[in-house]
Amino acid sequence: MDGKKAAQAIKDELRIEVAQLVAEGKKIPHLAAVLVGTNGASETYVAAKVKACEEVGFKSTLVRFEEDISEVRLLDKINDLNSDPDIDGILVQLPLPKNISDENIINAIDPEKDVDGFHPVNTGKMLQGLPCFIPATPYGIMLLLKHYKIDTAGKHAVVVGRSNIVGRPMSVLLSSNTNPGNCTVTVCHSKTTDIKNFCLQADIIVAALGKPEFITADMVKEGAIVIDVGITRMEDSSRKSGFKLKGDVAYDTVALKCSWITPVPGGVGPMTIAALMKNTFESCMEKN
Ligand code: NAP
Repeated sequence: MDGKKAAQAIKDELRIEVAQLVAEGKKIPHLAAVLVGTNGASETYVAAKVKACEEVGFKSTLVRFEEDISEVRLLDKINDLNSDPDIDGILVQLPLPKNISDENIINAIDPEKDVDGFHPVNTGKMLQGLPCFIPATPYGIMLLLKHYKIDTAGKHAVVVGRSNIVGRPMSVLLSSNTNPGNCTVTVCHSKTTDIKNFCLQADIIVAALGKPEFITADMVKEGAIVIDVGITRMEDSSRKSGFKLKGDVAYDTVALKCSWITPVPGGVGPMTIAALMKNTFESCMEKN
């Protein structure tokens, strides 16, 4: 599954819709991205999100803070963004420095501007199948399955990882009475014994644990669908950047066995950004 192409198709649609808003003299979407410190991966992710805003015609504001900013100052900024009527979406790039609680910051974001879908109000609504912002990575994966018209109903999905931002919401969405969805879901985590046994029973595997090449060909059933969420930077002196990206799936050998697979990079990553753009657009449409 080519996440880059599918994401481009979503962004192309959004660009047309934004042009329409401009033509009608309506408000255009505005995303505020908050970046604390100079973590290389976070810098890259935020830059990609700002670039995507430019591509689709959204306004974006990048708010940068030094690593040593206090939690109180960051909360003040979140409050300012919450009360700014021009801002439709707020994303705070995680992880935050150790002296700041991710939870306190996420909980301070107005749920109606929480386009990352991490606020407990949105999480609760998602659990009940109510309209809400769905976390961008699982939402992007659902959009990718939809793009490729993959029939998931009745399939056994194994999600490896149970984080609040990927694994857990993914398991909820795949088990929902939606299309895609309607899977029977097994969630595996670090305390699961014999993960291979569960993976071998899976029609769909979503690998979201952050362990490079954890899912190997002997763990995958013939014809399975494999979604690789993992992104780990591995040192590689032959590259200008000094690193290469590795997923949680041993792509070369697993690809020979499965019916669909997402590459890293170029799979779930671009879909996450496209989903974030969709959430920001929806937030703006609520105001319009
Ligand atoms: P996380 O918060 O560290 O959660 C990892 C999960 O994997 C935890 O539930 C953990 O279990 C489980 N786990 C760890 N080691 C395991 C093992 N050996 N066997 C089975 N389960 C294991 O990570 P995350 O934020 O969900 O991210 C996961 C990966 O996705 C990372 O590589 C991250 O960079 C990547 N990611 C990619 C995107 C994208 O856009 N492509 C977006 C977000 C994240 P416990 O709960 O028991 O600790």
